[in-house]
Order: sequence, then structure tokens, then C-alpha cells
Amino acid sequence: MALLGAVEAGGTKFICAVAEQPDAPPIETISIPTTMPAETIDRALAFFSRHKLRALGIASFGPIDLRVGSPSYGYITATPKAHWQNTDLVGPFQQAFNVPVGFDTDVNGAALGELRYGGGQGLDSLVYVTVGTGIGGGAITNGQVIHGLIHPEMGHIPVRRHPADTFVGACPYHADCLEGMASGPSLIARWGVAGDALPPTHQAWEFEAYYLAQAVCSMVYLLSPQRIILGGGVMHQRQLFEQIQHEVVQTLKGYIQADAITAHSDTYIMPPGLGDRSGAIGALELARLAG
Ligand code: ZN
Repeated sequence: MALLGAVEAGGTKFICAVAEQPDAPPIETISIPTTMPAETIDRALAFFSRHKLRALGIASFGPIDLRVGSPSYGYITATPKAHWQNTDLVGPFQQAFNVPVGFDTDVNGAALGELRYGGGQGLDSLVYVTVGTGIGGGAITNGQVIHGLIHPEMGHIPVRRHPADTFVGACPYHADCLEGMASGPSLIARWGVAGDALPPTHQAWEFEAYYLAQAVCSMVYLLSPQRIILGGGVMHQRQLFEQIQHEVVQTLKGYIQADAITAHSDTYIMPPGLGDRSGAIGALELARLAG
């Protein structure tokens, strides 16, 4: 049987996998460091050339062009990542394998994976936010992934500063947006060490929960999702979930009348059901939907 192929294209590594179905154990997976575009893409092409594919899904860091029919459809566009501006990501795979290729943002892919196979099963709306090297969010509403003008860039929403936080912010575009105040690199810039070197009781986590709770509340107000899943390296700090859940209920101040969030914030704001595999399974789901 021909296989589904997945590329989870990240700023530090490309995870490539092949499987019979998105939720089946992968037949083979590799991790390729993200170096120069041609080198990285060639290594991914070499991996897939050893398998017979029926469809491929690519879930990529961005910004990317998702507008079907656009001359730069399938490209990574104005990314701050050096050398990757205006890189055709879909084209080389389409030309090499001549199979349907599904394409979306890494976080939309992860949201799809979680909705169908992970922590969002049975729901038709969901937001998935990754908090790591950067912050990004993917959203599904009425069962459909949200695209639009480009695609959502939830990591760059403005946040209200914690009264005790004097850090200037780490976003090269906006300084103190959500990503600037709460990404992994912002923790290093503010405290001088990575998050996993800070004890669970450190003030860093109070700040972190304060900013991420604002983001969750904005998503509740804007999109009214049935669940919000928080993934990525920073969210490996499990104490953050309880802090964020508590902070969200405080911040909403009773305005949103929904037991699912006010009485059950522990099942409303959750870690990924698929662990660190949401992105790869999401990319396989993009392949399945394209095929
Ligand atoms: Zn920003």
C-alpha cells in the first residue's frame, strides 16, 4: 500500500515521517536539522524517495503563502529566519513525487492533528498554541482550519505588561507582543537562563502565566473555541497549566458564562493529547485530506 508522507518543517528541524494512516505508528521517521533551504529540502526528498507515497502533507513555520493560485503558493515568504525568505517548499516535493500535497502552517497542522486524533476529538472548534522558540496559534472553527488574508499570527497579539515586569521584550518587530514577552528566547533574554533551568516557583512562571492567560482570553473572546491546547517546549513546565487556568478565570471576571471554562478550566486549557507528535500527525492528516 502506498503511504502518507509528512513534513513538519520547523525553524530548527524538519521531521519527516511515512505512515499508512495518520494515527498508525509511523513506518519511518527522521529528523533533519534546518540548515540552508536546498540542503534541507534535498535531504527530505532523499528520505521520501525510498518509499512509495500516495500523498504528502507539509506543515511549515511561516509566514507561508496558502492562497491557491497565487504565484508564490507553497512558499515560505517573509520569514525572519535567515536564508529561508521566498523559499518554494511545496514545489520540489510536487515535482519529485507527483502526488497530492497538502500544505498549511505548523500550528494549523497541529490543530488538525489534535482535533481528529488527540485532545480535540469530538469537537468542531479548537485553538492550538505552541509556546517555544516562537509563539504561534492555529485555529479550527466549524471543523475548518482558519485561513484568510494570509493566516492567523496569534503569537504577535499585544499583551498588557505585568506590573512587576521591566523586560523590554524580545520580538524583533514589536518588542513586547505576546511572543516578545513569553517565548522561550524571551525567558533566556529576561532571566539569563533557559526556562528548564528555572525552578517551578520562580517568578518567571507567574509572568509567563499572566501573558499566556491574556492570550487565552483573547482567543475565547475572538473565536469562542471549545478547547484550547497549549503545546511547545515552554509548556513542558506542567505547573504553568494550573497557573494559566486560574489566571484565565480571574481575567474573564465572570463575563463569559460557560461552565466548560469557569468550572472546568482544567479540561478547557490542556496539554496536547498527542504529546510532541501533534505536528507530525497533523502533517499526515494534511496528506490524508489532500489524497
Ligand atoms: Zn511580535
